[in-house]
Amino acid sequence: MVTKYFVEVIASNKQQLINLQKFELDLFQPTAKSISDNEFKIDGLITLDDINKLVENGYKVLVKKESMKNTPAIEETISFADWSEMTKKSHEEATKGRRVPEVEGEKEETPPSLFTLSFTGYLTSQGIDSALQYIAKTYSSLVELIVLPKKTHEKRTCRAIKIGINNSTPKIGLLFLGGVHAREILNPDLLVKLALNVCEAYTSKTGMKFENKSYTADDVKQIVENLELFIFPLVNPDGRFFVQAPNGDVWWRKNKNPNPGLPQKGVDLNRNYDFLWDSGIGTSSNSVTEIYKGKEATSEPETKNVLHLINKYQNISCVLDIHSYSELILYPWGDDETQTEDPDMNFNNPNYDGSRGQSGDSIYKEYIHGKDLEWYDSTGKRIRNAIAAVRGTVYESQPSIGLYPTSGTCHDYLYCLRYNGANRNIMGFTIETGKKFQPPYEEATNTMSEVSAGLVEACKVYID
Ligand SMILES: [Zn+2]
Repeated sequence: MVTKYFVEVIASNKQQLINLQKFELDLFQPTAKSISDNEFKIDGLITLDDINKLVENGYKVLVKKESMKNTPAIEETISFADWSEMTKKSHEEATKGRRVPEVEGEKEETPPSLFTLSFTGYLTSQGIDSALQYIAKTYSSLVELIVLPKKTHEKRTCRAIKIGINNSTPKIGLLFLGGVHAREILNPDLLVKLALNVCEAYTSKTGMKFENKSYTADDVKQIVENLELFIFPLVNPDGRFFVQAPNGDVWWRKNKNPNPGLPQKGVDLNRNYDFLWDSGIGTSSNSVTEIYKGKEATSEPETKNVLHLINKYQNISCVLDIHSYSELILYPWGDDETQTEDPDMNFNNPNYDGSRGQSGDSIYKEYIHGKDLEWYDSTGKRIRNAIAAVRGTVYESQPSIGLYPTSGTCHDYLYCLRYNGANRNIMGFTIETGKKFQPPYEEATNTMSEVSAGLVEACKVYID
């Protein structure tokens, strides 16, 4: 394998930054930002040849480090059996002496958090799956195991869980997705731990604590009894397996579609949805790139599995797709900047084909209902504030276009359904967690704790 380097590419103006797209390199779009009046930067993972090409074209390239062969993803992988044993032990230790208040109104003691306990490594693909089965079995009165209909290209079965007490009240559903991009490895662990934490807190009638941010036992009760939480922590298990395999590629992003007849494997699952899929905005038709959109919209089994959940559970009203990295809370639109004035200027209107996808111009801006924009703004800030309360890390909440437009993404597709006469109103977010794809596990645990508070806060939006 050719050696690659983690780099920061510096452009001297916005146009130069945008021109980077034509090099079709593995540049991490959400990391693009303005660093001064006339400097923009974006992180990436590229070869020495790529670096030379960029420098010849007038870019500054700072090499951060060489991509290591043995990464934490491999060194710290752990089986579910060991993980579960450790969870149990550390949980017993932490709960020693804990007291649930017996008298109503008595002040509740702060419960321990599973997140502050010592886990030693990222779960394997198999480990995530075992964890879901364990949770469904252990908390069978509140958790249902859902087997998704499509097996992956490598014949893996995908599972999700639904947390919620069965009673006759109609409930709003929230769906959390993780592990769409294979190399972003901390998010599946985060969602599994959050699921465990919610079930444990509900069963033992305690609250949940994420360092300096706490939720009460009543918050947990409300969430479990008045909402339905759908958790699909590992959308792309083939990709994760390849990332953690000794002979795999630790920086693999896509799924493992063999792409017959094409030079490279894999489809970028977050460019495969049917939102402006034909437009080519922020995607590629070249299988060699990391943003290859697939041979048609919704072509991939992993995409179909997500849509199965959406179609089968019509109560799902909010989807949070958890990615890494950049410490961002993103909401529609991704294809262009937003406007609330002209409903005809929208993604369905063919008169505007070809004029979308330029940030900063006034020719086209994507229409969004003013009320929805307000909701996204206030909910995004609420999630941001909950994350910040944990240990002071401040995420930014903003429309997903940022400096680079995209199309075919999950949250834009789900949100666009309300403009398509589909009678579905789904609000979608993408959260970009942390500062790295694969931080050492201790750092990862901090990120998991922070973002979990953000996700619990998103639930509370629907019960307050
Ligand atoms: Zn991602």
